[in-house]
Amino acid sequence: MRQSQMFIPTLKEVPADAESASHQLLLRGGFIRQNAAGVYSYLPLGYKVIKKIEAIVREEMDRAGAQELLMPAMQPAELWHESGRWDVYGPELMRLKDRHGRFFALGATGEELITSLVRDTLNTYKKLPVTLYQIQTKYRDEKRPRFGLLRGREFIMKDAYSFHANAESLDEAYWAIFHAYCRIFDRCGLKYRAVLADSGAMGGKDTHEFQALAEIGEDTIAYSDSSDFAANLEMAEVMDQGKERAEDSLPLEKKAGRVSTDDSDWVKAEWFKARSETVLVFLRAGDEVNDVKVKNVLGTDMIEPLDPEQKPDAFHPEKGVRVLADNGIKGLTRGVLYSEKEDVTYIQIDPERDLNIENFFDLRFIKEGDPSPDGKGTIKFAKGIEIGQVFKLGTKYSETMNALFLDSEGKNQPLIMGCYGIGISRTLSAICEQYHDEDGLIWPKSLAPFAIHLITVNPKNEEQLSLSDKLYHDLQDKGFDVLWDDRKERPGVKFADSELIGCPVQVIVGKKAADHIVEVADRREKERVETGTDRLEQAITE
Ligand code: ATP
Ligand code: MG
Ligand code: MG
Ligand code: MG
Repeated sequence: MRQSQMFIPTLKEVPADAESASHQLLLRGGFIRQNAAGVYSYLPLGYKVIKKIEAIVREEMDRAGAQELLMPAMQPAELWHESGRWDVYGPELMRLKDRHGRFFALGATGEELITSLVRDTLNTYKKLPVTLYQIQTKYRDEKRPRFGLLRGREFIMKDAYSFHANAESLDEAYWAIFHAYCRIFDRCGLKYRAVLADSGAMGGKDTHEFQALAEIGEDTIAYSDSSDFAANLEMAEVMDQGKERAEDSLPLEKKAGRVSTDDSDWVKAEWFKARSETVLVFLRAGDEVNDVKVKNVLGTDMIEPLDPEQKPDAFHPEKGVRVLADNGIKGLTRGVLYSEKEDVTYIQIDPERDLNIENFFDLRFIKEGDPSPDGKGTIKFAKGIEIGQVFKLGTKYSETMNALFLDSEGKNQPLIMGCYGIGISRTLSAICEQYHDEDGLIWPKSLAPFAIHLITVNPKNEEQLSLSDKLYHDLQDKGFDVLWDDRKERPGVKFADSELIGCPVQVIVGKKAADHIVEVADRREKERVETGTDRLEQAITE
């Protein structure tokens, strides 16, 4: 492609509200443009990379036996009513009404839609297992869209769903897709870890997150310095507590976040169903449960500090509430609630502050240097970006939505399900977080928008122009994807843009064009090496 004809609106200045490297460089390199908070256009360069990521995802999903389909982004509200999620998903679900007054959800995820598609069809064990996937735009009205494509409100996701007659079959698909994810992220050149994750309010049990290592990441990974143990910090803490309780690695039953407001402003928090009497609660200011915002945490009887050394003034003084003020994680407050009468805890709700169901964890804190929950080595922390997740759903959706099959004994059973997501657009950003320097992006070969950036230093010079033109065609004939900077711009502008765009190899046609000598530079090292054009292909692939 001739750069003079390509739409690459690069920016000299760092955009003011872009806080992460990937966000800044994708904007500056002309890969994306923002249209609204958390809503972006993928420009030709950015879309080329997206398509390469998608191609890798498709190849590996197909190889794992999954079949691609495409479902609508616009989903009838009835399905979300059936599953019960219309009421519990909260304000993150974008809702709209058609001219007839019918409600729709813009797909935040696709469990309802896919379950409605397969029910009545996957109705016998003979037709199972089946895994279906799509690459489709998703909508989530995130409270804090940020870091560009990392947390968008409209984003591209690969979502897959598997259907099974028994738990062994689900396990097989789960691990097949787990390994497909490893291949996908390996091929993308990402440094990542697959970590045990907390199944949270989704229900179900087994789940792993794929976390790309990056300082900007919002998740904390706890891993052992001398074993394979790696878990999302939340999960590591659950497991750590589980260590002391023989019966299960998940010591407390976490109930789905059903919050019912009665006449008073008290809310019954049924999700704290503890097998022991102690439950920890994490509250984060600025979050919410089901549109309801929280003011205080009140224990029915008492709230006690985890650490008896904690100073009394660290407790919330109002209404006998005592909440530890600081647990070392920004924005979180925690307290221990327990009730000796009943195993129900009460929470008072107030429209001024909010609280997220996801931030309720019945666990305790792990610190760096603590022994690993598997007993091997000590805990280290790293920051991660969640680029994918695999999840054993079980029968949550098939039960509520009545998706049944006949088993081999002729009995009706709910389909057993798994779901598997990859954030395609988030993966693009995660790659940029790992592959850049102060001057711009440095694409791994597998994903580069162009393999070679051919730069004509002075296109007004006839020799430079004609040699460039020849190389442009020769290299393309040899199968290289070439971006040719044929623009009549100052060399400084050209080189700055080239660094920003970050193609793995630059071929520079300059003063020695008449002698058929060009320079080749690897974007990572920046060192230029002269070569005769007869040896160019060799120099490029070296
Ligand atoms: P997060 O914890 O970051 O909010 P999530 O756990 O809510 O993500 P999932 O429901 O597991 O996300 O969705 C599957 C994948 O979709 C995630 O692993 C992530 O890669 C991607 N994803 C989720 N939310 C966003 C978003 N707002 N913008 C871009 N990608 C996202
Ligand atoms: Mg989320
Ligand atoms: Mg998550
Ligand atoms: Mg997730």
